[in-house]
Amino acid sequence: MIDTAIPLAAVANELDEVRQRLAREVAATGEDAHQVAMDHLVWAHAHVRAASAMREWSERTGDAAVDAMAAAAEATALADVRGHSLDQAVADDLRLASIGTAPPPFEDLGGSADHRLLRSTLRDFADREIAPIAQAVHRNDANLPEHVITGVARLGLFVISIPEEYGGSRQERPDTKAMLIATEELSRASLCVGGSLMTRPEILVRALLTGGTEDQRRVWLPAIASGAQLVAVAVTEPDQGSNVAEVKCRARRLPSGDWELTGAKLWCTFAGRAELLTVLCRTGEGGHRGLSLCALEKPAFPGHEFEHVQPEGGVLRGRAIPTLGYGGMHSFELVFDHYRAPAGALVGGEAGIGRGFYLQMEGFAVGRLQTAARAVGLMQAALEAARSRTPTSGASSDAPEKDLQLVRAKLGAIAVRTSAARQLSYRAAKLSDAGDGQVDASLTKLYASRMAELVTREVMQLHGGMGYAEETDVSRHFVDARVLAIFEGTEEVLSLRVIGRSLLRAP
Ligand SMILES: Cc1cc2nc3c(=O)[nH]c(=O)nc-3n(C[C@H](O)[C@H](O)[C@H](O)COP(=O)(O)OP(=O)(O)OC[C@H]3O[C@@H](n4cnc5c(N)ncnc54)[C@H](O)[C@@H]3O)c2cc1C
Repeated sequence: MIDTAIPLAAVANELDEVRQRLAREVAATGEDAHQVAMDHLVWAHAHVRAASAMREWSERTGDAAVDAMAAAAEATALADVRGHSLDQAVADDLRLASIGTAPPPFEDLGGSADHRLLRSTLRDFADREIAPIAQAVHRNDANLPEHVITGVARLGLFVISIPEEYGGSRQERPDTKAMLIATEELSRASLCVGGSLMTRPEILVRALLTGGTEDQRRVWLPAIASGAQLVAVAVTEPDQGSNVAEVKCRARRLPSGDWELTGAKLWCTFAGRAELLTVLCRTGEGGHRGLSLCALEKPAFPGHEFEHVQPEGGVLRGRAIPTLGYGGMHSFELVFDHYRAPAGALVGGEAGIGRGFYLQMEGFAVGRLQTAARAVGLMQAALEAARSRTPTSGASSDAPEKDLQLVRAKLGAIAVRTSAARQLSYRAAKLSDAGDGQVDASLTKLYASRMAELVTREVMQLHGGMGYAEETDVSRHFVDARVLAIFEGTEEVLSLRVIGRSLLRAP
């Protein structure tokens, strides 16, 4: 009999010893010589955090099915961190097999009555308005239908993080979990048609609430809340992506006080359709201290290319880069050629000069949690597709019906990974509401993005040949999941620069 009681606390203690040793080595010889060790430490930490979030969920609900999933998550975390003997691996997979076809506790996700109502309202909306068109938008890389955008605005999804005084619905206490639930449900129907609509507004809202002037908040927040102005965020450039401090696109102040932008940006998602474009640009020298954030109003353009010529002669050109997945969101390469922005475009006004990097990072923190929820929604869709279409028993003319144990084990693993990412994100949301949790948001995004790739791969596999057919939803899930570990901070950069550094700094 294999002992499956998991000493996860012991693993956490071991990790802490490794962490302290690594911190001493990095202090002595620098970070670059220890990137691989840091990355392993971060991933081990992520697996343990995810399992502990599952244990907390189990303790909250007292539900036997959830308890079984928490125990499986702990076993999975232990295997991910330490590796397993063959016998232990078999025991763990048999445990997963018993979860594979069990009635799922996934719907009982707790939260307030408001959260449950939000989830069911959005599930209805997404099943009715988004799911039926998701595949067509994906395969044709079509424009997002306007009825989805107006539907999302009408349901109040752009207002969640905006305080009431600026046209939003945020009460005294922020409710990040509501934002995650909304994102999960839209992404369950489609990552692109709906699931990603809230990301960019959330990033700009956070930047404005952190560092915008009162006038800017009064003008832009109500416009974002009502959906009158959709948002795109331009940070990445042809010569820099992860190294945000080296942004080159320049904003020059004209004698009139207006700003003039010249330079190129890459991968600016939704830049055509958006009416409000935030651009991280260089207003001074000195790395990240020379960066400021501009918010430019522009007309909306449908399609894959646009050119906006201003009366003063400034030009903004955009071309969407064809991508494997993420259809409909249209990520643009942009060229600003003496493009004018009014004096008031600089977020924070005079006080915002040189604060762009900080404001952008504030925005990314919430964007990363949002991306974790996008990953969870995608996993949930894949999980449901696998449960409804994958045979867990097989029969043929010369063999009686038999139990497909390995398929059940895979279904169990998919369910556990999905739930662990979701519980991790809810815990990070709680920390975020308490004004903490920037690092947890990054850790959650890191973990959920990787899990979404694993889960969608397994679900595609369980669909056999049809999993590889372009016409099936699960092939879309697979290519959509691939992008999550690339944007909003690549997994390597989040691991090393954000989570790894923070872990090593801890006492
Ligand atoms: C579909 C899509 C949509 C996007 N939407 C937006 C958007 O709306 N706005 C926007 O501004 N950007 C957007 N991006 C850009 C995205 O954020 C960048 O692609 C990402 O930050 C990586 O930058 P890069 O492509 O220049 O790669 P690089 O930074 O060149 O990285 C290449 C590889 O090197 C690794 N690497 C880089 N630095 C280090 C290091 N110090 N240590 C170890 N490894 C390192 C990276 O992790 C990566 O694996 C989008 C990208 C895609 C694909």
